[in-house]
Amino acid sequence: MKYVNCNVCGADNWFVRYQSTLNTHAPRVEAFRCTTPDYGEHTQIVQCADCAHIFANPTWEADDLLHAYTTVEDETYVAERAGRELTFEKHLNALERFTGAGNGRTLLDVGAYIGVFVETAQNAGWRAIGVEPSAWAVREARRRDLCMIEGTLDSAELAHQTFDVLTMWDVIEHLDDPRAELEKSFAKLKPGGLIAVHTMNVESLTARLMGSRWPWLMEMHVQFFGKRSLSRLMADVGFDILEARTEGRYLRLGYLASRLEGFNKPLGKLAHWAVDKFRLAEVAIPINFGDLFTVYATRPL
Ligand SMILES: [Zn+2]
Repeated sequence: MKYVNCNVCGADNWFVRYQSTLNTHAPRVEAFRCTTPDYGEHTQIVQCADCAHIFANPTWEADDLLHAYTTVEDETYVAERAGRELTFEKHLNALERFTGAGNGRTLLDVGAYIGVFVETAQNAGWRAIGVEPSAWAVREARRRDLCMIEGTLDSAELAHQTFDVLTMWDVIEHLDDPRAELEKSFAKLKPGGLIAVHTMNVESLTARLMGSRWPWLMEMHVQFFGKRSLSRLMADVGFDILEARTEGRYLRLGYLASRLEGFNKPLGKLAHWAVDKFRLAEVAIPINFGDLFTVYATRPL
């Protein structure tokens, strides 16, 4: 592992927010599945004393992180497609408030995983491409005839100023260097193009009330943004911020029960029993704890 400076302001001036709960010194691939049940296991999490950004420190070596995301497989995520489709339809509607309908314009989804958003955008008239490091996830997406590039913004040889829209859903919290990724994203967008970055909100009331029990404190998350710190970083990179908005999402009750089991076993078992008994597993419900948000911004003309 390595010690890093604050990615938002560059300072090397931090204090510990949450002690590490791990005893390994290399990331475990199984902890990097999107639906990992290992709540409560995380590296030491610190807060920048200068700008208040919260991040893992010491953190994983960049190569170890990329290796984990290249090799990760997650069948549970595929099973949860229905809930994610609804969530992404909601995300797309929110995004189109700024862009209007797709009408054949180009959209790049960074960290597209199995391509659920790429498919949602494509169905709505966008020419959508996904870039994704997990070979398994890219195979899953290609089985649905989606346009996917295996790799990262670095390895994908995409021309500058190509895209009308670039999206990053639940990606930035996993990155070793969010600033660099945002700079590359800026370069890929056409002037006037829109970027949407979605992540969990460490400044939210839910996060502050739950403290060390906030479920998003997990091994695979290394950056913990709030609306202020993410807006600041994106503005620094050159984007004009349009809005930082709290978002909910949809989850199937069957999936919710299995996630609950990772968090609290007896409660999860009870939830499973109830969901099975009343045949509710496929029912998707909106969830909003106020601890997820999206920043919408544009590359200036
Ligand atoms: Zn800082």
